[in-house]
Formats: sequence, C-alpha cells, structure tokens
Amino acid sequence: MAKAEIDERVVETLGSVGALKEAVLQETLGDGRARCNMCQWRCRIPAGGVGHCRTVINRQGMLYTTIYGVISSAAADPIEKKPVFHYKPGSLCFSVGTLGCNFRCVFCQNWEIAYADALGSSARTCNTGVEPGMLVELAKKHKCEGVAWTYNEPAIWLNYTLDGAKLCKEAGIYTVYVTNGYATPEGLDLIGPYLDVYRVDIKSMEDRFYKELVKVPHWRGILDVAQRAKVQWHMHVECVTNVIPSWNDSDENLSQTARWIAGSLGPDTPWHISRFFPYGQLSHLPPTPLETLERAVRIGKEAGLKFVYLGNIRSETGENTYCPKCGALVVRRSGYQAEIVGLDGEVRCRADGEELSIRV
Ligand code: SF4
Ligand SMILES: [Zn+2]
Repeated sequence: MAKAEIDERVVETLGSVGALKEAVLQETLGDGRARCNMCQWRCRIPAGGVGHCRTVINRQGMLYTTIYGVISSAAADPIEKKPVFHYKPGSLCFSVGTLGCNFRCVFCQNWEIAYADALGSSARTCNTGVEPGMLVELAKKHKCEGVAWTYNEPAIWLNYTLDGAKLCKEAGIYTVYVTNGYATPEGLDLIGPYLDVYRVDIKSMEDRFYKELVKVPHWRGILDVAQRAKVQWHMHVECVTNVIPSWNDSDENLSQTARWIAGSLGPDTPWHISRFFPYGQLSHLPPTPLETLERAVRIGKEAGLKFVYLGNIRSETGENTYCPKCGALVVRRSGYQAEIVGLDGEVRCRADGEELSIRV
C-alpha cells in the first residue's frame, strides 16, 4: 500500500497548525512499516508512505493522522437530516466533516471533500487548529444538543472524534457518527463509551455492489461492527440504503438487507430507504422509481421491521412515524422538521400505550 510520496513541506505546514498527531491503533511491523487499524483496510504503510484514505502517513516508522482539527464543513443541522429519526427528534446537532475517505463510491455526492487529498492543497482551504473543545463551545453557541461527525467518513478521523466525543459526554452533549461502517471493531471499541448514535449505511448485501461501486473487496465486516455498536455498546443505530436501479433494487437484495437489520439489530431499528439520483459515474441511470421505493418499504415491513422511512423524496407520509401496533401518527416530519404528536412522557404511543423505540 502507498508508495513513498510525502512532501515534507506539506507535513511541516500541517504540523504547524496542529493537524499532525500520532495515530491511534497503529502497529509496528518492522522495516519501518506500520499498520493502521482504524478501519478495515488495515493499511500496511511503508516509511514515507500514505494510507488508502490519504490522511495517515508513516514518518520514520510511526503513523500520524494529518487531519486532527481540520474542518472542511460545519453546520447546525437538524438530526433528521443525518437521517436519524428515533433519537432526540427535533434537536439540532453541530455537524462537522474533514477531508478524505476510505471508500471510493462512484456515486459519492460529497466527493469534493471525500476524495480531497488531505496532503494536497485542499487542506489549505479548510479551517485548521479546531481543538475538540471548540466543538462543545460551537454546539452550545448554536443551541445544538449534539455533535455529529458526518459529511465524510468519521472512522478515519478517530484521533479527533475520540477526543471530541469524550469532551461532549463531559458536557452532556450527545454524539453521532454518520458512517459507512468500515471502522474496525477495535476502532469502534475505542470510541464506543462516548458515542450515542451510529447511523450506518447498509448499501447492499452483494459483493458486486461493494466491489464495483465502492471499490471495497471485503465489506462484510461492516455488518459485524454495526451489530457490535448495537449489542456491545448499546448505541442507538439507524440504517440507510440508497436504492440504485439495477444495482441493489432486486427483491432478493432488499429482502436480505431488511432481514439482516431485523435479525441482527432488532425489528425496532429504523431503516431509511433513500432515493438515488443520477450522479457521477452513474449519471446514465434513472432516479429510483417511486414504485421501487414503495416495494422496498413493503419488503422491509414483511421482514419484520417496524419503522421503514423514505428519504430523498417529497412524500406526505413517508417520513412520519406511526405506531406499529395501532397505526396512530406519533411523530410528524416534513422538510427536516419533526413534531411529536402522539407520544406520552414514557415514549409510548398515546393511543394504546405501545412502547416505542424513540429516545426523546
Ligand atoms: S484509516 Fe483506514 S484507509 Fe486510512 S490509513 Fe488507516 S486503515 Fe488505511
Ligand atoms: Zn399505538
């Protein structure tokens, strides 16, 4: 992995703004090589080399992250925008992203930051030196109850997200990962005690999808780590599947995805079916037809999932929460606004007392 290609002047600049930190979860391999265990690529990086995500470098046998406190984007977003529907509905979370990604999805909408090279000029257009404590201050200033690491993959930003999450917990602020799920189990375990919400993409159940569209040959660890977030760390987990015509829209694939979520994460786990729009290398495909989305919802319900939502599409009812027992409207959502209309104080359906998996 990764030939020698570090420009020392760039490294010096990154160091001078506090972006360089000894990477967590590194392992010395000998001959100056070291392995990064933050994500499931587990890159073996030679001295002078760079990891697959282009944010981790090997200097004289030691790995350094190059994106500590480097912020490419920030906004006070409703948690519904992540999308997360069953955790603090209607709250704001201060959302930040950095540069780089460990995936190369050919349909990525955030490619400008995800494909940006943390070692190139893109880093200069970012805010740097944003100490993790500032996330707490910014969250408070913008009346946010939570902090979300999103826009690009947070697992490759573990040094920073870990420090930030610890401070958030001390300050009583909830924490969210919006992730492609490719963290290692040990990466998850490091941040597990400080992370409240794990919003993970389950893109497909087929190798073809991950191999050809995401450029990741071994992806099944995503499922194990998502289950670990739920079972071992009791995080609030929600899943998203962006349904792409001819790639992951077969009955079989949708049904396998829904059955895995229901069986491994539980039938209360919200599943967000998101509409695909032609983009990037998939510009030739049509947007996901409405019938396909409705079919996916039906398949999700048949698999036992109690809460299946539609995303990326204008829908009168597709984002609302209804009581799975009596059908009463519980949370009304529209344009990222959420209004609790049918919950009692103990998070039960007001109509029939059914216990609902919503944390308010
Ligand atoms: S975070 Fe992942 S992709 Fe980046 S260097 Fe580490 S193992 Fe490789
Ligand atoms: Zn009810």
